Amino acid sequence: MKAVVYKDPHSVAVEDVDDPRIEAPTDVLVRITTTAICGSDLHMYEGRTVADTGIVFGHENMGIVEEVGSGVTHIQRGDRVSLPFNVACGFCRNCLAQKTAFCLTVNPPYAGGAYGYVGMGPYTGGQAEYLRVPFADFNCLLLPPGDEHENDFAMLADIFPTGYHATVLADLNPGETLVVFGAGPVGLMAAYSAMLKGASKVFVVDRVANRLQLAEQIGAIPIDFSAGDPVEQVVDQTDGAGADKGIDAVGYQATVAEGEEQPAIVLNQLVEAVRHTGRLGVVGLYLPNDPGAPDENAANGRLLFNIGRFFEKGQKMGTGQADAKAYNAQLRDLILAGRATPSFVVSKEVPLEEAPDAYERFDRREEGYSKVVLKP
Ligand code: NAD
Ligand code: ZN
Repeated sequence: MKAVVYKDPHSVAVEDVDDPRIEAPTDVLVRITTTAICGSDLHMYEGRTVADTGIVFGHENMGIVEEVGSGVTHIQRGDRVSLPFNVACGFCRNCLAQKTAFCLTVNPPYAGGAYGYVGMGPYTGGQAEYLRVPFADFNCLLLPPGDEHENDFAMLADIFPTGYHATVLADLNPGETLVVFGAGPVGLMAAYSAMLKGASKVFVVDRVANRLQLAEQIGAIPIDFSAGDPVEQVVDQTDGAGADKGIDAVGYQATVAEGEEQPAIVLNQLVEAVRHTGRLGVVGLYLPNDPGAPDENAANGRLLFNIGRFFEKGQKMGTGQADAKAYNAQLRDLILAGRATPSFVVSKEVPLEEAPDAYERFDRREEGYSKVVLKP
């Protein structure tokens, strides 16, 4: 089959690879109909998170079940399914607590697995024609048949649940104000989730014009950090106190991204932009093992976090990979009820063959490439 294969930093190719097959009775094979490129793929694409040449990328997948293992009871051939990016077993202590991003079964001795990601277990990615899905009764979310809402449902594998999770980590309540750093797909989904939850004001910080426009389009207040200190801009608009809650949807790429003149430490800005006793949700990635990063601190996931100010302000912080499974059924039902259309972030739809060009443009945050979906 054809798949998006990692070659070297800044290079992927669409190549023939072995077809996946059923390896355990609890597996299914899914024919991929839509698969998205994620900001998390860019960590490997840019060579900052060192991935093996030849791995197939893709953890934001959906499609039609093509073949079913003998031990699968719930899912049938022909079912249309969304596949949460974290591979999980459903029966370990963490899965039972809905902490599916920290499954203890799928990637020992670590907690948590994912498709197409270095260090996240032996699970091939879904930017391909077919995908093997382990523990399929648990890892498939059933969707209605047909092709309606395809790009909305495609957001259920990762960024919609991840954005929602960020609001849970930040403990966002109705009527509160929120600041989100990053208007990438994840930040936009966090802002969108906050609107769904009834936030009174949502500020979204970035400097990419068309991404800020998308934030404005969903009712958020765009903050352009190239036009002045984003902390001041938020504090000025929240009676000098700062937002009630805050989200980091940038991660450590802000400290090292190519072409950035002055790398900011977003976490410190977040502490300053959120009021005393406020809560922070951090879904932007900070990896402890990133030998490709340009400086030693970034390589070790370390940064000069101002714990003194964080302590002084009496804030709380939640972090980590999102437990996509904990939210995706509810978010699917919001889509079905016409109450959510997360596909507003999707700006580009291209065939699998065009993945190399799409990666390049998404990596440059080019206009019209806020979220790219591939159609194998
Ligand atoms: P992205 O790179 O498209 O978005 C990041 C945005 O941050 C960009 O628009 C960029 O212009 C902006 N930015 C850069 N520096 C900034 C700064 N100093 N202040 C404000 N904005 C700044 O990526 P994405 O797909 O939206 O993902 C965002 C982050 O979330 C990545 O680190 C990704 O790995 C991570 N992620 C985490 C999870 C999870 O489960 N926790 C899931 C998906 C993605
Ligand atoms: Zn993703």
